[in-house]
Order: sequence, then C-alpha cells, then structure tokens
Amino acid sequence: MKPLHLAALAAASAIALSACSGGQESDTPTPGADAETAIFADVTDDRLDNAAATPEEWLSYGFDREETRHSPLTGITAENVADLGIAWTYDLATNRGVESTPIVIDGTMYVTSAWSVVYALDAKTGEELWVYDPDVDRAVGVNACCDVVNRGVAVYEGRVYLGVIDGRVEALDAKTGEVIWSKVTVDQSKPYTITGAPRVVDGKVLIGNGGAELGVRGYLNALDADTGDLIWRFYTVPSADKQPDGAASDSAFEQVGNVTWGDTGAWKTDGGGGTVWDSIIYDEVNDSVIFGVGNGSPWNQRLRDPSGLDNLFLSSIVAVDADSGEYKWHFQTTPGDNWDYTATQTLIIADLPVGDDGADRRVVMQAPKNGFFYVIDAATGEFISGNNYVPMNWATGLTDEGRPIEVPDARYAEIPYLQTPGPLGGHNWHPMAFNPDVGLAYVPAQEIPQAYGTDPRFQDDSAKWNTGADFAAGVPPVLPGELTRFLRSGLKGRLIAWDPVANEARWTVEHAGPWNGGVLSTAGGLVFQGKLNGEFSAYNAATGEELWTADVKSGAASGPGTFEIDGEQYVTITTGWGSAYLLTAGGLAAPEAVPPSVGKVVTFKLGGEGEIADIDIALVEPTPKADEFGTDEQIAEGLVHYARNCGVCHGAFAASAGILPDLRWSSYTSSAEAWKGVVVDGNLQSIGMVSFADVLSEEDVEAIRAYVILQAHNPESLSADAGGGTP
Ligand code: CA
Repeated sequence: MKPLHLAALAAASAIALSACSGGQESDTPTPGADAETAIFADVTDDRLDNAAATPEEWLSYGFDREETRHSPLTGITAENVADLGIAWTYDLATNRGVESTPIVIDGTMYVTSAWSVVYALDAKTGEELWVYDPDVDRAVGVNACCDVVNRGVAVYEGRVYLGVIDGRVEALDAKTGEVIWSKVTVDQSKPYTITGAPRVVDGKVLIGNGGAELGVRGYLNALDADTGDLIWRFYTVPSADKQPDGAASDSAFEQVGNVTWGDTGAWKTDGGGGTVWDSIIYDEVNDSVIFGVGNGSPWNQRLRDPSGLDNLFLSSIVAVDADSGEYKWHFQTTPGDNWDYTATQTLIIADLPVGDDGADRRVVMQAPKNGFFYVIDAATGEFISGNNYVPMNWATGLTDEGRPIEVPDARYAEIPYLQTPGPLGGHNWHPMAFNPDVGLAYVPAQEIPQAYGTDPRFQDDSAKWNTGADFAAGVPPVLPGELTRFLRSGLKGRLIAWDPVANEARWTVEHAGPWNGGVLSTAGGLVFQGKLNGEFSAYNAATGEELWTADVKSGAASGPGTFEIDGEQYVTITTGWGSAYLLTAGGLAAPEAVPPSVGKVVTFKLGGEGEIADIDIALVEPTPKADEFGTDEQIAEGLVHYARNCGVCHGAFAASAGILPDLRWSSYTSSAEAWKGVVVDGNLQSIGMVSFADVLSEEDVEAIRAYVILQAHNPESLSADAGGGTP
C-alpha cells in the first residue's frame, strides 16, 4: 500500500539526508571490542531486575521491569535543558508510522521502523552498524488495523528479539543482525499481526499479537529464548466450544472465564478478539507476568455475544505465573466490551501510599482507552481506586469494585450514539511514564469522539475489517463544512500529570490536537513528550512549565528514551507520520499540522548543533479524475461500503493524510474498469492493495467509486490542500 512516489522520495531523501546521518567521529572503542570473550549486548535477568542501577543504558522497552520510563540520569536538568540540541539523526527511510522505543546497550542502539525493519546504530554518532529487513509480503498490510508499525525489540544475552508484522518472532545476533531462529507464532491464514515489543523474563520471550478488528482469538505466548519453541500460551477468550486447549489458560476458563460467555453469537466463528498487542510487564516481587488484553471481536457485543455477559478476559488486566503461565488474577476494565475499549495501554508497577494508614502498597496503574485511570493491587488484582482522566459520556463513574456505571444509550443498536472516548481511546499505545520522586503518572491523553451504530451488513465469517459497528452511522454523503468544523473542534490532546493517590490531575498541558507522543520522565526533574505537529518538548515534572521545544519536522508520537555515553546524557526519539489516527482520521487533522512524512531517529545532547533538513514532498495535484455519477441510493451504499472497507487505511470521509493514496485524486477512479481492476481483481496486490472480492460485489465497488468521486468534487472536502495522492 506504499505510495510509489513516496517510496521513491524516501530513497532520494536517504541520500539527501546522509550529511546529517553521521556527524562527528566517535572516539569510543567498538562496543565489546575490549573483551573478546564477553557476550555482545549481554543483557541478563539480573541487569533487567536492576535497570535503575545502570541508567546509562536503556535495557528494555519501558526502561525497567516496572516500565516506569523514569530514568535516574540527572545530566540534563531544568537549568540546562535549554541548551539541548541535535547530536545526530538517522533516516529510517519510511513514510509509514514509526512507534519504536530504542534499546541502548553497550553503546549500540537497536531501533525498529515500519514493516518490522531493525536498525543497529552507534548510539553516540548514529553510524549504521547493521540493518535487518524481514522482507514482509506487502499484502499483509491489509491485516494491520493501525498501520504496519513496530514498537521495538527486546535485547537479551547477546540476541535481539523481534516481532514481525506477519506473525513471525525472530532472534537476531545482536552483533551482526543475522537470524538465529525464526518462528511463525500465529495461524497465518488468519489476519493476525505483531506490532508490539517482546519482553524477556528468565529465558522466555513474551509476545502477543493484534487483529481483533478482523476476527481472531487473542493470546500471549512464552517462547524459549534459545530455540523459539513454545513454552506456554495463555488464551484470552475461550475456545468456541469452551473446551480445554491444552494451554496454560485452561484452568482460568474453567474457574472464571467460560461462565462469562453465552452459547451463541459471532465470537464462536470470529475468534472473540482479546489480542495482547502491547503491554506486558514482569512483577519480580510476585513472580507474575501481567499483561493488558484488547477489545472484543466483533466490537459490537449484540453481534459478538447476545447474552450480554462480561466476556472475560476482554479489556482486562491479567496476571499469570511467570514460569507456567497459570492464571493468578484479573481485573476487567470494561465488562462486555462494545467499543474497542482495549486494556492494552501502558501498565506501570509502583509502591504507592494507598495501604492501611497510608502504608505503601505495590500497585499496577493503567489509563486504558475507556477513560478511567485505575490503581489495582499487584499481588491480587483488587481494585483500589479509579477516576476518569478525560471527559466521558458512556459511564457516570465506578462502583466500589471498579465496575463502570454505564449510560444505557451507549450500548448502541440501530440508533447511533456519539461517544467519547471513541475507539481510539482517551489514551492509546503512546507510553505513559511515572516519576516516583514526585508521585505523578504522565498520561498522553486525548479526545476523539466517534459515533457507534450497529452495522446492518455485518458478515459472520469475514477476514477483513468487521467490527459490527457502523462507521458511517449518521454521516451525510457529503460532509458540510460546518460539520467538518464541529468534528475538528472535538479533537483534543493533552499531557496530564495524574496523581494516582489523590486520583486527580495535578497539572495539564493542552496540545493542538490528539495523538501526541509517549512520555519520558527523568530524575533531572523533567518530562519529555513529542507532539503530532513535530514539536518535541521538555516540561518541569512538578509544575508542567514548558522549558524547551525543538522542531523534529515529523510526527513525534513514539516513546522517547535517554542514555549516557562518556559522561554525556542523550535524549532520543523516533519520528514518523502514520499509524491508526493518521490513516483513518488524518484528513480531519488541521492541514497546517501535517509535517513531512519520512521517519527518523533524532538524538539530542547538551550543546548539540545538528540540523534536520527540510523535505519537500511533491504531492499530486488534487484534481478529480472523473465526473460525478450515481443515484442517491448508490452513493449512500458507497458511503457505507467505503466507511467499512476503505476508510480505515485511506481515511474517513475519503480524505487521506498523505500516507496512503488519497482515492479522491487517484487515476483509478477514471473508469469502472480501472477501479474494478484494483479493488476486485487485485492488480496492485504487490504494493499492498489486496482484492476485496471476498467482501464486496462489483456493484458495491462501483458504488464506492461514485461516493469517492462525489467527495473529489466537494469544495468543502477535508484537507484537499494537504492530503495528496498518487498517480
Ligand atoms: Ca482494537
């Protein structure tokens, strides 16, 4: 699905940017060269358990086992942060979403890009050491709900562990990038994807997957770090007949899970969902692996399971024994999920004074999509406290057990309900952080309202986007400018410093819009966060005062990191333009917020004098390629089919943010034959645009063309000046 002109541009810009991809010579020896027998990148369990003792490294996805993203480094402080400048940049040569948090160990940075490509760089200079491309079939991209992103690798005992978007998990030699083992961890006939970062605990590689918008059954795998063999698997939803799988989760379903599912509904053919696509943490005190579980498949519970029961372990936080994968406890954030309210968001462990008489208690914190911030007991999963961190209209509060008190209309049917948070959540994958010194959790929060209605065309056995929730609910065939402005006015983003003891925001910074970056906290009293508009900023950890901002000239949505080499502290962030919000709703983003779309690693240090070159992206002239046609009925049909099948990648209301082709300006709209050749016959499958013949008739496809061409002729259509397109 990669636009050809942008692919060419990415290659060209890789050359143009080489001047700022290297920088000064390194005077440090080659990492590991001074000890020939030592294992390269020798990250051990002991080092992972004591990450704060070696803050010069960034050893794992969330910095430490507790995934606080709080570094003890103090080289950069409120007093000197104004001197922060670019040390080096490295061009990731992609125009797709970049969500990676770099790992830094022994002077080497391991970072991933779109399509699961891994880069090993000299962390001091940005010099490329090796690149590994798993060479993914581009047709897999249609299975990715939220762009072909990757959030990072795990490094352990000389190896780099990678989850590949097509469901492979691979171990690479940390020194050379050579593949040591490669295992397929999913049924590749089903629309599974892997975008998350693996974690490693005691010789086990922990990794889940995604796909719950398209019909899969979720699980967490523990693989042998030496061989890739499966050690245990925990399914998050029961098998279709509620019989044991021979998996670690069997006892959990027997004890608590099976009774929360009815005996009819699409879950029996659709898999039920519950994918474990992001947060996985290790609680070494209780020897538990704790992970977040995603939404139901399909989303719409009336279609998924008409019993209306709770449907464990959807939208839950689950703890299992690290050795065996046996169930310990769960806390369900959204019983009977109906809205894509995943509980896969960042999990952080901390000791908070929330026990009897203010005694410390070991807790797990999460701000999942549903809008409530939760504090639960790390040993038992008991609900301690919670409160909404963003405005919401689907629930009015929490019971004493932490169960949301729902607004009945939010369980939509034929009558749509305009809801906040929407399916992109009050908080999505962007990592939150926790500073134990000031006792604040930093949440990249947002408001992206959306209407939900029951999809009358839901298909029980689809392998494409099939949520049972109608994206076209209540939308007119042509969006009036007034409605556009109303929708834009509802899009908000902010950084919230949340006090998890008082259960309220201590301070808040409002941003220009949603989908801003993950957070880094440092003992220098700073909080770093990037924004979608390309700004990367540092704030006072206690007050939220903005102390420094740089323009990184692309979306800055990933989790920043920090490390130290030769006594100098560095701060690093990966940038890019893509992922779920921009693919589906990017046309709503204000045109001035659209930065150039080539991903990079941008690394800063005090006194850094590097620069990021401006990139001119030549967009195709937004010109309609055919005259309007079609009856009102045909266009209404086209809207429904577009919203369900096309909008998730090519943009809601047929407006793209310039990542994938903006269909309004596509030459393939010029004739029914050309359009059918792509959408039905799959003529562009090699670049990722697969055939939709299994879910759309030729009549449906022509109705979509009529709808798209109508948008091309609408002078008020979204971001026509910024969207771009392909020939
Ligand atoms: Ca989802």
